[in-house]
Amino acid sequence: MKSIYTLQTDIEELLKTKGWMSNGLAEELGRSIAGTLNNQFNALRQPSLRLSQMGPKCPKALWYSIHHPELAEPVQPWAQAKFSFGHFWEAYAIMLTKAAGHEVSHEQHECELNGVKGHIDGIVDGCLVDYKSCSSRQFQKYKANQLEGDDPFGYLDQLDGYTTSLRKESFLTVKDKGYIIAVHRDMGHIHVYEHRVRDTIRERVEAYKRIVDNSNIPECTCATTSQGSGGNIILGTTASYSAQKWTCFPELKCFLYKNGPVYFVKGRPRDALREVDKDGNTVYA
Ligand code: SF4
Repeated sequence: MKSIYTLQTDIEELLKTKGWMSNGLAEELGRSIAGTLNNQFNALRQPSLRLSQMGPKCPKALWYSIHHPELAEPVQPWAQAKFSFGHFWEAYAIMLTKAAGHEVSHEQHECELNGVKGHIDGIVDGCLVDYKSCSSRQFQKYKANQLEGDDPFGYLDQLDGYTTSLRKESFLTVKDKGYIIAVHRDMGHIHVYEHRVRDTIRERVEAYKRIVDNSNIPECTCATTSQGSGGNIILGTTASYSAQKWTCFPELKCFLYKNGPVYFVKGRPRDALREVDKDGNTVYA
């Protein structure tokens, strides 16, 4: 009998065969990709707290993401293209799930937990699922069952939020677990990752609501470190990845090295390849 536990092998068996790709599936796939791309590039909406954002967050970055999103570092063109390609993989994996004979329902169904809304990818065989395309490194984390404790983007918090919000619904028959259908974006492998839902998500939702509802901006908590002996000071790792780092450090300078950017709060290096501004434009080469 087909269930979430047979999904991976059912899809692999399907892909060994011919003749399953119907016009209906092809049209649905096209509509789905068009919808997500339209959403990515055309939707203009007021930022709000979402159940998809319940992962670990800097309070100050969270506050700014809602009140002043225009101050965030712009998303680079290559990242936009990567997001688009991720949408394609996820829509394709949903289509494969259906073609392999699994029951898919409630796609993009709206849910709500303590006043915070979200939209689920869908219910597969009675289970809450979220489709994620991922790098090879991330895929290995799913396969090795290592996401719990190393989940910087909060994918498991997302599953907690969705599953908890829908627990009373009869269409959700598996109420204590959520699933990530991981798709390896280079190799096309699929892995079903099972997560036991945690009860702490309501506290996280309430804590994040308090932060964004407060008119006071949270304090900067990011550390800086000295570099070399010439008095240069650079951002630590957390701040380097923060989209709001230019808000916290308005005098920041970004220098590109062979291994990536380094952000200088004070001083400047002699050995960088070039300097770029917040938008990625070259200041000098
Ligand atoms: S630079 Fe640090 S304190 Fe400032 S918003 Fe980013 S993560 Fe938060």
